[in-house]
Amino acid sequence: MRQSGIRLMRIPRSAAGEPRQRAARRRLWRWGGARARLWIALVAPVGLLCALTGCDAAASASHQAGKRYRAVCTVGMITDIVRQVAGERAEVQGIIGEGVDPHLYKPTRNDVAALQGADIVFYNGLMLEGKMTDVLVKVARRGKPVYAVTEEIDPSFLLEPKQMQGHYDPHVWMDVSAWGKAVEAVAAALSEFDPPGAAQYAERARRYKGELDGLHAYLKRVIASIPERQRALITAHDAFNYFGRAYGIQVMGIQGISTESEASLKDINDLVDFIVANDVQAVFAETSVASKNVRALIEGAQARGRTVRIGGSLYSDAMGAPGTYEGTYIGMLDANATTIARALGGEAPELGMNGKLRPR
Ligand code: ZN
Repeated sequence: MRQSGIRLMRIPRSAAGEPRQRAARRRLWRWGGARARLWIALVAPVGLLCALTGCDAAASASHQAGKRYRAVCTVGMITDIVRQVAGERAEVQGIIGEGVDPHLYKPTRNDVAALQGADIVFYNGLMLEGKMTDVLVKVARRGKPVYAVTEEIDPSFLLEPKQMQGHYDPHVWMDVSAWGKAVEAVAAALSEFDPPGAAQYAERARRYKGELDGLHAYLKRVIASIPERQRALITAHDAFNYFGRAYGIQVMGIQGISTESEASLKDINDLVDFIVANDVQAVFAETSVASKNVRALIEGAQARGRTVRIGGSLYSDAMGAPGTYEGTYIGMLDANATTIARALGGEAPELGMNGKLRPR
């Protein structure tokens, strides 16, 4: 994490758009103008006050008294890595649960209360939690540390698909090496927030990143085992671009990067053309996106004499059920890669990298 004097100044960049997110910036500007000036007038002194009087010191003091601090996160993939890094020092709560689409998620009254009651907040950024921006900004404005875990990822790594019109693709957790960077960002943020725990956070992050290295290698291996001409991944929405780049598989989503945009008949027909031309055997549903478009694709292919099946349901923007292996970040990616490889003619153990997947 960047060491800026006033942490609250982080939020405008993350919540409202990275430097190259032109559309997002325009939105900030609309949101901004007089209000932005008001914000600077309001937020800067609060940040300064915190720096002088030590909002962190208060949190650290309560921590030293044996009380766990409370970290609140948006999507499950972040909740899990914060839990991994924070260990026993924090009580970690996630807001967006199993099977829920973060692009469309509107925070409830309880979520707002949880965010207000948090000591530290983590979110993805890159406009993933598009409908939570206002509430995250409000929470930050009240002097709370609010971190986007993607903030320190080098822009040269980020994808900017043309249909995103100047936005970055937010689905960075699909490349395990990138999510390793998010783990580092979490460790840095927690160390800044709770300095007595810094050595623990560094050690826990190091160990967890070791596990991620194993996962990354497994994903590479099983995707590479798919026969080359079958290496095409068609999913309900465009969540797998980073996955495709990292693990060497062509990806296509029926809906765009955000599920806010609807798939057109032309999108469906283009994909049916691709399926027919490339003899694609399987397409994939997603647990957090309705499967009507995937069914339309299958019917479209059928009308042209091709049988294509659903290769399984992938975890795109949400993890599996809490308390299960698929309800962890590692389990989620293991399940995805194993399902994809097996459905497209590759080789992967039925129960995945760790033998822990539920039989499907
Ligand atoms: Zn998505």
